[in-house]
Amino acid sequence: MTAHAAIAPGATLGVLGGGQLGRMFVHAAQRLGYRCLVLDPDADSPAGRIAERHLRCDYLDEQGLEALAGGAQAVTTEFENVPAEALRRLAERVPVSPGGAAVAVCQDRALEKATFARCGVPCAPHAVIDNEAAIRSLSENLLPGILKTAQLGYDGKGQRRVDSRDELAAAWRALGSVRCVLERRLDLACEISVVLARGVDGGVISFAPFRNLHRDGILALTQWPAPGIEASLAERADAAARAIATTLEYVGVLCVEFFVLRDGSLCANEMAPRPHNSGHCTIDGADISQFEYQARAMARLPLPGPRLHSPAVMLNLLGDLWRDDAAPDWAGVLALPGTHLHLYGKTQARPGRKMGHLSVTASTLTAAQAVAREAAQRLGIAAW
Ligand code: ATP
Ligand code: MG
Repeated sequence: MTAHAAIAPGATLGVLGGGQLGRMFVHAAQRLGYRCLVLDPDADSPAGRIAERHLRCDYLDEQGLEALAGGAQAVTTEFENVPAEALRRLAERVPVSPGGAAVAVCQDRALEKATFARCGVPCAPHAVIDNEAAIRSLSENLLPGILKTAQLGYDGKGQRRVDSRDELAAAWRALGSVRCVLERRLDLACEISVVLARGVDGGVISFAPFRNLHRDGILALTQWPAPGIEASLAERADAAARAIATTLEYVGVLCVEFFVLRDGSLCANEMAPRPHNSGHCTIDGADISQFEYQARAMARLPLPGPRLHSPAVMLNLLGDLWRDDAAPDWAGVLALPGTHLHLYGKTQARPGRKMGHLSVTASTLTAAQAVAREAAQRLGIAAW
C-alpha cells in the first residue's frame, strides 16, 4: 500500500472521543459505508451509542489503544484534549490524522499564538502568566484583558475578565495559579470562523466563512455565508487559515476562529483540530459536510470543493431550554419550513450543555434568518 492509497468504504474508521462531534462524524462515515470504532470512557456517549463498536476505556488505556489500532484502518480525534501520548502510540500502528504535533499546538493557547505568529497571522496582544513576577512586570497596554488558562479551556470556561493588575493577580490565583495567557480585551465588530480540510497530498478545500455570535463564552448562533463580511475580508481569513494548515502540514479538518476588529482588521483567536460547532451549517447547507470531509481526509479519499446550496442559520440548543426536565416543543419548531433538528442523544440537560442544534436553511440568508428568529422565539432563545 502506498502512503496515499485510499482506505475504501467498508473499512473501519476509528475516532478518539464520543461526544457530539464524534457522533456527527460517525453519521457521515457510516453514510459513506464505513464502520466506526469509538474510544470514549463514557458508557453512554453520543457517538459510542451509534458506532458499530464502542471501546469504553480511558484514552491512555493500553488494551483500548491496542484494540483501536488493531480494529481501525485509520484514526482521527473529535476533541483536542486527547492526550498527545495516545496519538503518538496509535501513530506507530495506524495512520492518525490530524497528527499529534498539530493537536498539541491546539492544546495550548501560548503555543497556538506562537504558531499564528510563525504563520504570519496576527492575534491579540498577549503575555504568558505563570508566576507573580510576570504579573508585576506586565505591560500596561494588555489591560483591560481576559485571563485564560493555557490548557483545557472550552466554552469560555477557565477565563476571567480583568481590569487591573490587582484583579489579574486575584484571577490568576482563582484559576489555580496554573500557566495562563492574558490577552488584551479587543473591541470586536464581529466573530467569524473558517473551516477547511487538507488532504495528505497537501490539497486544501475550505468553506466560506461563518459568522458567529457567542453568549457567555458559548457559541449561540452561526450564520452562513457570513453576512456583512466583505469579500476581501473573507479572502484574508481564508488565506490565513490555509497558511496555518500548510505550515503545520496538517491533515484533516481544521477550524480557525477570528475576531474582526472595528477597524476591519483580523485577529486569529484560536483553532480546533477537528470539525467545529460553527461548521454544523454545512450538514444541511452544503453538498459535502465538514464531517464527511473529516472521513474523506483520514481515508485519503478525494476532497473536491464544497458547494453551498442553502444559506443557513444555526441555533445551538443548550440544556437551559429543558425546563423542569421537559423538552422544548419540537413539533412547534419543526412546523417551520427548512428546519433541521439535530439532537445529540444526551439524557441529562444541564445549563450550558450542548444538547443539540437547529439549522434553518432557505434559498436566501434573509429568508433563513426570518425563520430562525421565529424558531428562536418558539424555543425561548434570546433574539439577536
Ligand atoms: P471555545 O473553545 O468554545 O471556542 P474558549 O473557552 O476557548 O471557547 P475563547 O474562544 O478564547 O474561549 O473565547 C470565547 C469568547 O470570548 C470569544 O469567542 C469572544 O466572544 C470572547 N473573547 C475571547 N477573547 C477575547 C478578547 N481578547 N477580546 C474580546 N473578546 C474576547
Ligand atoms: Mg473559542
